[in-house]
Amino acid sequence: MDLAGAKRIVVKVGSALVAGQDGADRHWLAAFAGDLKRLVARGQQVVIVSSGAVALGRRRLALPKRPLTLPEKQAAAAAGQSALMRAWEEALEPHAMTCAQILLTRDDTEVRRRWLNARATMETLLALGVIPVVNENDTVVTEEIRVGDNDRLSARVAQMVGADVLVLLSDVDGLYTADPRRDPNAEHVGRIARLTPEIEAMAGGANAQAGVGTGGMATKLQAARIASAAGCVTVITMGHRPSPLWAVEHGEKATVVEASTTPKAAYKAWIGGSLSPAGVLVVDEGAAAAVLRGKSLLAAGVRRVEGRFDKGDAVVIRDEAGAEIARGLSRYEAADAVRICGLKSEAIEGVLGYTSGPVVHADDLAVAALGSS
Ligand code: GLU
Repeated sequence: MDLAGAKRIVVKVGSALVAGQDGADRHWLAAFAGDLKRLVARGQQVVIVSSGAVALGRRRLALPKRPLTLPEKQAAAAAGQSALMRAWEEALEPHAMTCAQILLTRDDTEVRRRWLNARATMETLLALGVIPVVNENDTVVTEEIRVGDNDRLSARVAQMVGADVLVLLSDVDGLYTADPRRDPNAEHVGRIARLTPEIEAMAGGANAQAGVGTGGMATKLQAARIASAAGCVTVITMGHRPSPLWAVEHGEKATVVEASTTPKAAYKAWIGGSLSPAGVLVVDEGAAAAVLRGKSLLAAGVRRVEGRFDKGDAVVIRDEAGAEIARGLSRYEAADAVRICGLKSEAIEGVLGYTSGPVVHADDLAVAALGSS
């Protein structure tokens, strides 16, 4: 199963699992924490995307049963988010796992600087062995600018951290060719190599309403589409079990949507294609050759720095004849890059008082297709 071999796993946990009748469902959370511990003990990194703030908050604030207005929902989210985090902390602590709250808005996944900042924080937490628990920052977003459902938010998170598997814990065990509660001929779909319009149509109709959370099957497939393009496999499975991850690894029913690329290739395509570069690094012949072979760009090979950019911004790398050879993310802001032009790596710290290593690390480099300029 894809799960056992994954390095980084994002698990989306819906409101129906976390929020029981009288507050957080501690029983389920305690069992699930054991399931997570198994992954962590195997050296896998886990990010949780947890819903439940609104569900817990509306109870806490004793809001009426009718559909809530947006301000009421936001108030409920504010009151419920702290209860939600307390529930996660209480579940994880007995297993010596530490979690950290990350609240994101759609902008954080779309505006490059914020995306990079959120990503850097997430990387730091994962390196420290902490489990980030992500939710949408419902209190600051309005209806038009919300991601709206945590299925798609979790796919954005999977893309952000370069996860190899996204697990959507649902109240159905995957996609069916028709609504299994109405149609006895409905067949379970085990593996989807590519999301076609026909498959998405299966999630349309009655199937779309499966579940009590915000997202039905349609948003799950939208999430799978985002994840697939980011190189991440999506597993849609039943969450209403004490150890849903263990269950799926041991052959319980799930729908697996394959990735259409690798996380690394998707990341490089993102650097090469969808970021507008803020500056230019002109490099000498030796550095150009190294970069073309996929090696990091060292300060020693940088001849000139153009433009104003911050650490983490995208830059174009050109040779001295002006041809574009690659794009990448600079590890130094422009002013600092200017000061270390031509220096050996060991000399950087003496000049800047710090070093971030190569100017552009090989991992953050997308080499231009031959012939482009
Ligand atoms: N962010 C919402 C909450 O915490 C949930 C959205 C969803 O369930 O998809 O209640």
